Amino acid sequence: MNIATQAAQIGLEWDTRTGAVTVPIYQTATFRHPGLGQSTGYDYTRSGNPTRQALEEGIARLDGGARGFAYASGMAAIANLLLLFRKGDHLIVTEDLYGGTYRLFEKVFGQYDLSFTYVDTSDVAKVREAIRPETRALFVESLTNPLLKVADIAALSGLCRDRGLLCIVDNTFLTPYLLRPLDLGADITVYSATKYLAGHNDTVAGLVVVKDPQLAETVYFHQNSVGAVLGPQDSWLTIRGMKTLSVRLDRQQENADRIARWLAEHPRVGKVYYPGLATHPGHAILERQARGFGAMIAFEVSDPALVEQVLMKTRVISFAESLGGVETLITFPEAQTHADIQPEIRARLGISNVLLRLSVGIEDAEDLIADLSQALAQ
Ligand SMILES: *Cc1c(COP(=O)(O)O)cnc(C)c1O
Repeated sequence: MNIATQAAQIGLEWDTRTGAVTVPIYQTATFRHPGLGQSTGYDYTRSGNPTRQALEEGIARLDGGARGFAYASGMAAIANLLLLFRKGDHLIVTEDLYGGTYRLFEKVFGQYDLSFTYVDTSDVAKVREAIRPETRALFVESLTNPLLKVADIAALSGLCRDRGLLCIVDNTFLTPYLLRPLDLGADITVYSATKYLAGHNDTVAGLVVVKDPQLAETVYFHQNSVGAVLGPQDSWLTIRGMKTLSVRLDRQQENADRIARWLAEHPRVGKVYYPGLATHPGHAILERQARGFGAMIAFEVSDPALVEQVLMKTRVISFAESLGGVETLITFPEAQTHADIQPEIRARLGISNVLLRLSVGIEDAEDLIADLSQALAQ
């Protein structure tokens, strides 16, 4: 079945007693036992809750994996996955990584004797060169933040399979509607569902999908042991958001494509990073492996002084962190999302003092372009 259909119908058949079309919010911590040694299948909400389960089964279906897991945030989801590794293990990681993930790896898990090498994962040869005897996994962002580098997930997961590494894909920027990493050979997908999946800038949530049932058992053991689960209300909100994933993304991509082309022609704009532009180095890979190019754009303004001007003058577009929601947001990565990355690395990556990032929403494209136009004007 098409993903748009599957997404719209998450939780549809959950409540057979009343026939409710949406899954109820099971706002309960615990469940009565029918008898000694018996269970309804639910005992305690950390271990399992029907609303969360509807979401977990929904994302597993969208991604084509054995099992899904819902966490209190994207970071909680990623932290839970790192419990698959042991002292001394080494991971290869995308270099222009989400800042929070970099902080988690370096400042938290680094203390537990895990080590990380950061490479340009849009270059398969660089990943291959970074493999060491103690390497256990590749953690790759399918589309990176903020420079929108594209990883060849088919090639990278093939390399991982050959070398016995786990291939973990942070697919936040594309979602299963645009890219299905498990179909291309990856082992695990992880999402900040806060972004496109929930899609309304109103919920913080994380999701994981595991392809192999046995590995999924281990992830479940960690989810239940650590307990950073998503609550029933937020699980419901995430499902509610996911039902419209396909229409939101179709519109967001259409808007992003128009805005990127408009920016590319603007005299006060330098480089425009959008994988939908044929000039973008990752364009061909996404054309082959994905259903679209997403709705994130990064662009350089011609003068550092324009950064503050644009951030202060946009009226339809909000100056705020985060991305993927229905409202268009603009950020300044150097000072915000990527402030924790070392300045030398930022400079090498191109996260400069003239780079702005747009998360394009579902508003009318002409209104967004008019807003950018007046904000960039002299
Ligand atoms: C936002 C984000 C995260 C972290 O998710 P939270 O829900 O904010 O904890 C991880 N990876 C990527 C690519 C993100 O954009």
